[in-house]
Amino acid sequence: MDLGLTPDELVLQARARELAEIVIRPRGAEIDRTEEYPWDVVSTLGEAGFMGMTIPRAYGGRGASFLDAVLVIEEVAKACTVSGRIVVEANMGAISTVMAYGSEQQKRLAAELVLSGDKPAICITEPEAGSDATAMTTRADRRGGAYVINGRKHWITGAGVSKLHLIFAKVYDEQAQPLGIGGFLAVRGEADGLRVVTREPTMGLRGMPEGELAFEDLEVPAAMALIPPSGFARGFAELMNAYNSQRVGAGTVAMGVAAGAFEHAVEWVRSREQFGRPIGEFQGLQWMLADMQTHLTASRLMLYAAARSRGPAGSVFPDAELAAQAKIFASEAAIKIVNDALQLHGARGYSRDFPLERMARDVRMFTIGGGTAQVLRTLVASKILGWKLPQRRDGYVDLESETSRAAAE
Ligand SMILES: Cc1cc2nc3c(=O)[nH]c(=O)nc-3n(C[C@H](O)[C@H](O)[C@H](O)COP(=O)(O)OP(=O)(O)OC[C@H]3O[C@@H](n4cnc5c(N)ncnc54)[C@H](O)[C@@H]3O)c2cc1C
Repeated sequence: MDLGLTPDELVLQARARELAEIVIRPRGAEIDRTEEYPWDVVSTLGEAGFMGMTIPRAYGGRGASFLDAVLVIEEVAKACTVSGRIVVEANMGAISTVMAYGSEQQKRLAAELVLSGDKPAICITEPEAGSDATAMTTRADRRGGAYVINGRKHWITGAGVSKLHLIFAKVYDEQAQPLGIGGFLAVRGEADGLRVVTREPTMGLRGMPEGELAFEDLEVPAAMALIPPSGFARGFAELMNAYNSQRVGAGTVAMGVAAGAFEHAVEWVRSREQFGRPIGEFQGLQWMLADMQTHLTASRLMLYAAARSRGPAGSVFPDAELAAQAKIFASEAAIKIVNDALQLHGARGYSRDFPLERMARDVRMFTIGGGTAQVLRTLVASKILGWKLPQRRDGYVDLESETSRAAAE
């Protein structure tokens, strides 16, 4: 199917496919079983030039586009979901935030780490601040030439394996006056005060540690504060723009897993016989395949379009609305496609000897992490209506108390 890729993009896609098939696919089941971060795959991805491929050439990267990264992520995720996520984090998300808003010193540090195999961690979510990220209580207090960070984050991807951490915190000046929310770069192992508290026992994606981090008087030099053009006061939204690229990457991993499951399903219905004929001869199953592929193609097209898009003038990140729509659609479609592929395998789909049950566990995450499908729908609705849609009660009328007040009057 011609989806409008250039000859160079097709070559890159074929190269990623070959590498994923030969080197990464054989590792998928073992990574899931041992729950160990695949350092060998990281080396393979690094040698292929896929770690930090979107980093500009001036900083040692390949200056690849987000679409290039998407093409690689799909192929890698088809073979192994965890490995697909590593390519996302090494090209989109924290690294893109630093490359867009960082100082020279910060860009060089981040590029050097990623190009030598680091998958940076982005630290936003807290036990009491999930979708409501601005409710975070982690704080960064200015003390002389440094910020001192205290607080906890949980569900941090790469906890205990990532070196570079982009930590979001409420910022206070020397007089403890609030300045807004900012990002701070810290390298694990180089500063005291960054501790992994626990590892989450996850349903899927088991080779990628998700953990709780504690920051205990973590001292970050002021030069490592990531200050976006609008400053701390309005900068959080700017820094969060990077999530538009991360969302496209995450949606692509989900789509890649679904594409892999679909390939297994096609092969299976051709060869599995019941009632004296391949089960692929039953029209009910043919229509399932047609629906699966239709949703895959739609996901792919939306993700490609989102990867190619840019936000408002001057933005280096994908358009927020398109990225949100692509992630909602691709992640929800992927869950259904993988589930259908499992169904087509009958009992074998439910067996740990086949990859479908792993794929079903892995793919379930993508409507949650990086902005839930519900929160992203609110973002899309806000763009449709042209309204800010505050989710807190302030500004809303509490109908229940209005009714009781009216009754009392
Ligand atoms: C595998 C994995 C990896 C992750 N990696 C990272 C990471 O690296 N860094 C990081 O900072 N975070 C990470 N997260 C956290 C993730 O971003 C949060 O889980 C997500 O933002 C949702 O927050 P929550 O889990 O607290 O759910 P909650 O915010 O408590 O939401 C619970 C439910 O309520 C719904 N909901 C909440 N508010 C609204 C609303 N206003 N309107 C409609 N529905 C609403 C949600 O959609 C959800 O269904 C990760 C999560 C997972 C599962």
